[in-house]
Amino acid sequence: MKFIRFAALILAATAVPAHADTLVDNVQGMSIDREGKVTRFTGIWIDDDGRVKQLLDRKDKRPRAKYGVDAQGAVVIPGLVDSHLHMMELGFGALTLDLTQTRSLAEAQAAIREYAAAHPDRKWIIGRGWNQETWGLGRFPTAADLDAAVSDRPVLLARVDGHAQWANSAALAAAGISAQTADPAGGRIERLAGSRAPAGVLVDNAMQLAERAMPAPRPDDHDVALAKAQQILLSRGITAAADMGTTIEAWQSYRRAGDDGWLRVRIMAYAAGVPAMELIAGPRPTPWLYADKLRMAGVKLYLDGALGSRGAWLKAPYADDPRNTGLPLLTGAQLRNLMSRAALDQFQVAVHAIGDAGNAEALNAIEELSETYKGDRRWRIEHVQVVDPADIARFGRNGVIASMQPVHQASDRLMAEARLGPARLAGTYAWRSIDAAGAPLAFGSDAPVEAPDPFAGMAAAISRTGPDGQPFGGWMPGETVRREAALASYTAQGAFAGFGETRFGELKPGLRADFVIIDRDPMLATPQDLRAAKVLQTWVGGERVYVAGDQAGERQEGR
Ligand SMILES: [Zn+2]
Repeated sequence: MKFIRFAALILAATAVPAHADTLVDNVQGMSIDREGKVTRFTGIWIDDDGRVKQLLDRKDKRPRAKYGVDAQGAVVIPGLVDSHLHMMELGFGALTLDLTQTRSLAEAQAAIREYAAAHPDRKWIIGRGWNQETWGLGRFPTAADLDAAVSDRPVLLARVDGHAQWANSAALAAAGISAQTADPAGGRIERLAGSRAPAGVLVDNAMQLAERAMPAPRPDDHDVALAKAQQILLSRGITAAADMGTTIEAWQSYRRAGDDGWLRVRIMAYAAGVPAMELIAGPRPTPWLYADKLRMAGVKLYLDGALGSRGAWLKAPYADDPRNTGLPLLTGAQLRNLMSRAALDQFQVAVHAIGDAGNAEALNAIEELSETYKGDRRWRIEHVQVVDPADIARFGRNGVIASMQPVHQASDRLMAEARLGPARLAGTYAWRSIDAAGAPLAFGSDAPVEAPDPFAGMAAAISRTGPDGQPFGGWMPGETVRREAALASYTAQGAFAGFGETRFGELKPGLRADFVIIDRDPMLATPQDLRAAKVLQTWVGGERVYVAGDQAGERQEGR
């Protein structure tokens, strides 16, 4: 493995202005198409509009460009596309209490107490990232557990998967949730044993009961969160992302960023439901705005919940909760109605489906609606975690895109074994089988559920192991994908999944010059080496927007 010194590279590149005729030379460059075919080059010539003008071979004569950058032999890959994340939650998550690293309830309580003491001015303490599984708690935490840490003001903390909220007594009181409050449709208020009194955890649609009582973030808060999210993504080489569940407040922040010239990451926005879609985009998808930086192409619909909170909708009961099959969040009629309203106006539909019943139902609805809504629809199913093997072939019909998150497999395999039991694991995180069925695989992180790290994702995709290298030989290793497929699923396939393939996703003449300079070759690195890959520079549209260790670059990016 060759590691490249890059201090000189940074110095050599400091004079490059935005959008100028630029030659980035002396690179070990690669692009990859949707089929995984790799193209190699040693120089990129970028035109005044920030598009690739020409890829150069070693033997090609160098053009006389206005600006030249000598990359000193560094590896260049196309800008990475994260096909499923939550932009604002990523930014807010990085700015609020983060419990993802806590290993026990006691550790979490200490972190919550400390955070509250450090922020005496915050009227509510909000945060996310708890997971009773990694705490080894064997039950959901309670309001009393949270009161023991902070009781003088409301505390509301989202579970790591975003499918449950943990409230203290002050938050339950502020939200008016009591023994008299009924479970809303598609949601569940956890109750104390032997009573109707709320226990402190609100699952799926019940979360809104408490979220409604929370003071709403102001426009400025959204802008700070967006800047933070962009900084995180660019530092991991992500130049485009599908934002799954865009609200009007988030969209307005993206527009302010575009209008004021600090929108860096390309955002393929999927509205948070049909009303938000109609409010934001109106009668049809928006055009691409700000030189292909922003578009609302479609809508995100939630058909079920997640495995962790047993909200994923299964065909048979949970192995570790025999009376529960999870729940559909929409009736069959509601799902088809919402999908029709979107498809009628040419919006793309992305359906969140995690359980095998959820996936079967999403496929049923797509098959039925494809009779009416013809043409290039690119119906998307998000997550596709548990699929009945009998349903896998159906992914190859009607151009269904499987939007999957490889790191979930590595993080959740033990939980999946507990929830599903050994007999139902065959169709879980079944990347290779779904790819073989003919469905385009688009990979992402589901950030902030997982860190938005495409290199960790590629490592998981090719090895079915976690950061600890476990389990040895990989978990159901027959479902690994080839490394070309893994890289394509984080680049060209991601652009295709968002109708962006004529604009970005590959490095080739006419497409936006989005690329990442990294310190190792992803076609050669072992999974462990891939996870340790360092992003040296990130370029979007011919503009260098991130330089490792360069404070000025980060300040510029973060406004
Ligand atoms: Zn998500």
